[in-house]
Amino acid sequence: MKGGNIVDNIILSVNGLTKNYKTLCAVKNLTLSVERGKIFGLLGPNGAGKSTFIECILGTKKYNKGSVEILGMNMEGSKKEICKEIGVQFQVDFFPDRIKVGEMCEMMASLYKDTVNWKTLIGKFGLGDKIKQDVSKLSGGERQKLSVFIALINQPKLVFLDELTTGLDPRARRDVWKLLKSLQKEGLTIFLTSHYMDEVEALCDEVLIINNGQSVIAGTPDGIVEKSGMTNLEEAYLYYIGEEK
Ligand code: ADP
Repeated sequence: MKGGNIVDNIILSVNGLTKNYKTLCAVKNLTLSVERGKIFGLLGPNGAGKSTFIECILGTKKYNKGSVEILGMNMEGSKKEICKEIGVQFQVDFFPDRIKVGEMCEMMASLYKDTVNWKTLIGKFGLGDKIKQDVSKLSGGERQKLSVFIALINQPKLVFLDELTTGLDPRARRDVWKLLKSLQKEGLTIFLTSHYMDEVEALCDEVLIINNGQSVIAGTPDGIVEKSGMTNLEEAYLYYIGEEK
């Protein structure tokens, strides 16, 4: 592995990251590390700075201060190597309209040298019988599942999932959770954002709550609930972002 001043077990390490938009400080001095095989949740209300933070991590936005290492490498020196090892969930609106599910998967798979056998795996996502269907004719939930599936097509070591089950019905959400848990068991590291605290409790090993670009609290979901003195993560979350006394 390249780089390597990093503990081998740490897949993602962010140190003191700060991003300003003119006079607005959207992300202020955020630090985190994600261990191999863990599911990490970045939480915060709309406008908290989550997307900005993730884009800085992925190198699609320049940041003002701080450092990011993914698998012991940084984007400036090793962008190509990093991109081979990570998966990113695109929002479903990015999908071209007149493309079939199978064509979309084939196109995404063709971008990488090593890919999963997507025709086998897509069945696990409940999309096996949709391969010939236009993406535009999928239901909202199916499109959402497809976007998660596509993020996994290059067999990433680390995957970024943004509001991964928004729009899914309760059964489909649980199916996605189960799949992600099974991929975690196979060694996948997952970085996700979610507004659903039941999802975070079901999936995440570690959580960072941010508000106004700043870290509010980090820890395990149970640890955060305990520290807050509340009875569940949703109450604790609202407490920490100042919506609940
Ligand atoms: P979240 O993903 O948590 O909803 P964002 O990262 O999208 O938060 O936004 C954080 C803050 O930065 C918000 O106040 C938002 O209005 C602002 N912001 C986001 N993108 C830009 C931009 N390109 N230019 C200026 N301000 C931005």
